[in-house]
Formats: sequence, structure tokens, C-alpha cells
Amino acid sequence: MKRLLEDLIALQEVEVEIFKAESGLSEIPKEIDEIESILIARRRALDAVEEEIKALEQRKQPLEAELEENQAILTAADARIKKIKTNREYLALQREMDIAKKRKVEIEEEILYLMDKIETNLKEKQRLEKSFEDDKKILETKKEKLISRQNELQGIIEDYKAKALELRKAVDPSLLDRYDRIKKHKKGLAVVSCDDGVCSGCHMHIPPQLFNEIIKGDRLIQCPLCQRILYTNYEPDESNAGKD
Ligand SMILES: [Zn+2]
Repeated sequence: MKRLLEDLIALQEVEVEIFKAESGLSEIPKEIDEIESILIARRRALDAVEEEIKALEQRKQPLEAELEENQAILTAADARIKKIKTNREYLALQREMDIAKKRKVEIEEEILYLMDKIETNLKEKQRLEKSFEDDKKILETKKEKLISRQNELQGIIEDYKAKALELRKAVDPSLLDRYDRIKKHKKGLAVVSCDDGVCSGCHMHIPPQLFNEIIKGDRLIQCPLCQRILYTNYEPDESNAGKD
């Protein structure tokens, strides 16, 4: 019984490692996804600022053209005003010039406002680009590490699975069947130690009679509460045993 349990314990140790490696492996795609969504969000923020700058430039262009036309009107009027003979003509031209001057002020104000906004957005773009470049390097390194960890874990799992398959051959089939059923039910350890008379699976105190049987190791003992297979590292003192 003891030897059979030793094989089973060895198998359990390997299967616990498989479980740990598989849990670790299942977390990795999530972490990679997180990194990718951070990078996508950063890229989008940068794109949005670039779009905003483009839109502002598009609003500025016709205004600049209009300002040039306006200036041409004013220059032409300046030339004409010197040649004017009548007061009426002079007043009409003066009014035309006043309108053009007023419009000029409006356009200039609007252009200044747009330039100011472009400037702010350009600064924001620079800031985003800088932090994007820095973080991208960090995140991509992190991603590479996760991918290599993923490959490493896949290799470990394969090795352990081959090892577990070998170890399973050494265990008595009915014991293996019981082990698998307990393992499935308890989602973890099926064979646990019972030192000092306490089941390390559920912490129940095992009746002394049952504990003695575990020490003897003649038959398979399961915990009365959690049903896990029990073994002990406790070794009876030979000199004391002799005195009883
Ligand atoms: Zn128990």
C-alpha cells in the first residue's frame, strides 16, 4: 500500500505542476490582449489629435485666401482714392473700405483663434507621441516576454504530461480510478498527508483508531469528511513500540 501511495503521490505532484502551468498559461492571452488594447487606445488618441489638427487647418485655409482677397481690395481702393474727384465717389469708396477693413479684423481674429488651437493640439500631439513611443517599447517588451513564457509553459506542460502518463502506468488501476474521481470532485489534491492525526486536506481530526491504520498502511484510508486518500510521514518509534 505504501509503495502504491508513493507512486500516486509522485503522480499527484506532477499533475499539480501541470495544473499550475496550465493556470499560468490561461492568464497569458488576457495579459497580451490588455497590452494590445492599451496600444490601440493610445494610437486612437493620437489619431484623434491629428484629425483635429487637419480639420483646423482646413478651416484656416479659406480664411487665409479671403484675407488675401480682402487685402487686394484695400490696396486697389487706396490707389483709387487718390484719383477721386467728387465727394460722393469718395464717400462710396470710403464705405467700401470700411466694410473691407472690418471684415479684415474679423478674419484675422478667426485665424488667430484657429492658430492658437492648432498650436495647443500640436503640443498635445507631441506629448502623446513621446509617451506613446516610450510606453510602446515597454509594452512590446512585456508582450515578447509573455509570448516566450507562453512557449516555455507549453513545453513544461508537454513534458509533465508525458511524465504523468508514465507514472500512471505504475499505479494500480482501481486506485488510479479512485484518485481521479476524488481529484475531479475536490478540484485539486486527492492524496494528502495526515501528520499529527489531522487531515491536511480539510483539517479534520482523524479518529485515533483510523490514524493507527494509516500508520500501519495495510489498507487504503480515506478521510471520513473530505474523502481524500490519506498517508502519513509519521514513523512509530521502534523502541517504544516494543515496550507496549
Ligand atoms: Zn479531510
